[in-house]
Amino acid sequence: MSYLVKNYNRKKISFKRGKGAYLFSTNGSKYLDFCSGIAVNSLGHSNPKLIKALNYQANKVWHVSNAFTIPEGEDLAKKLVKKTFADFVMFQNSGAEATEAAIKAARRYFFSIGNSKKNRILCIKNSFHGRTIAAIHASGSKKMTEGFGPKVPGFDHVEFRNFKPRFPNIRSKIKKNTAAIMVETIMGEGGIKTIPDKCLRYLRKICNEKKILLILDEVQCGIGRSGDFFAYERSKVKPDIVPIAKGIGGGFPIGAVLMTKKVASGMIPGTHGSTFGGNPLAMTIGNTVMDIVSTKQFLNNVKRSSKYFFSNLNKLKEKYPKTIKEIRGRGLLIGIQLYKDQSNFIKKLMDNKLLTIKAADHVVRVLPPLNVKKKEIDQALKIINKVCLELE
Ligand SMILES: *Cc1c(COP(=O)(O)O)cnc(C)c1O
Repeated sequence: MSYLVKNYNRKKISFKRGKGAYLFSTNGSKYLDFCSGIAVNSLGHSNPKLIKALNYQANKVWHVSNAFTIPEGEDLAKKLVKKTFADFVMFQNSGAEATEAAIKAARRYFFSIGNSKKNRILCIKNSFHGRTIAAIHASGSKKMTEGFGPKVPGFDHVEFRNFKPRFPNIRSKIKKNTAAIMVETIMGEGGIKTIPDKCLRYLRKICNEKKILLILDEVQCGIGRSGDFFAYERSKVKPDIVPIAKGIGGGFPIGAVLMTKKVASGMIPGTHGSTFGGNPLAMTIGNTVMDIVSTKQFLNNVKRSSKYFFSNLNKLKEKYPKTIKEIRGRGLLIGIQLYKDQSNFIKKLMDNKLLTIKAADHVVRVLPPLNVKKKEIDQALKIINKVCLELE
């Protein structure tokens, strides 16, 4: 008997310990974890540097309050600003909180310049921005919003079809009161769909023209997951607001919103807050992840692992053309799109001790830790090959 609410379809398996890319189950099996807690354990399990940072800070001070200056948070904010488009950072605890705070910052900016009617956010239909009441309506999927009415106003949606370099009718969707366009640079839950660089540049152009803000949700694709520190970097586009979470804590809950000086100018004292957000324990761990993941050397290694993984997955696609439809994604945010429902495939991978997770569109999401080793990728490829062979 479980006393947990059944809002998840949990698998029976549990884990007692993890080390690097491996998880050890309570019944004695060793699994290759290419789920990484859904792009969270960026440095794998039991990373010695993260353990050290956690223990160090645990012996000093865990939590104070944002009523006081928190040096660890000042440090992490500075590092994020130095590495990115951002001028300022606001810490939260999760992805949904970060996307919500991003929406608040956008609206507050227009309010602060005397245009409070400009408050609508244009999003992609069936995207994913988290599970809070506002974020589900930003995502605009029936599955997520059904039964949670009344509908939260203020969100418009555009379809994203077939990776077209442009959003065909996005101009007609921008109203007089549109404040921002918010999209995931690479749609994660939606099936690992990358917005092409050309398309991101087009969004930036429209935002400039209409004097509205561009919010790029990098909760899943950010913090090195794409091979660049942020997935948008390759396009040379500069966003106005970027919510992050998942990978930045390496398993410790951290969220944040990065923003330009212009946007931050609206967020005066009292406009937003978070009891836990940016506490010393979280920030010490965030700093440690940041110091490792943001280096050129580390990111180059992610790119190398990615290239190797993709080229071999594409070979499997050629070998099993009736099973695998497409290999998609970027960096170590990888989607294996199947022709059929992927649940059985994922179960068979798990029977063979490889953990993955599903995404929309018949996609098997493969999310190894960012410091995954070549021999671990080889092991995963072998298991994927075996399962494809079984299902042929
Ligand atoms: C996971 C995710 C969120 C929500 O993060 P939570 O920490 O689960 O609230 C928001 N946006 C994107 C793109 C995500 O992948």
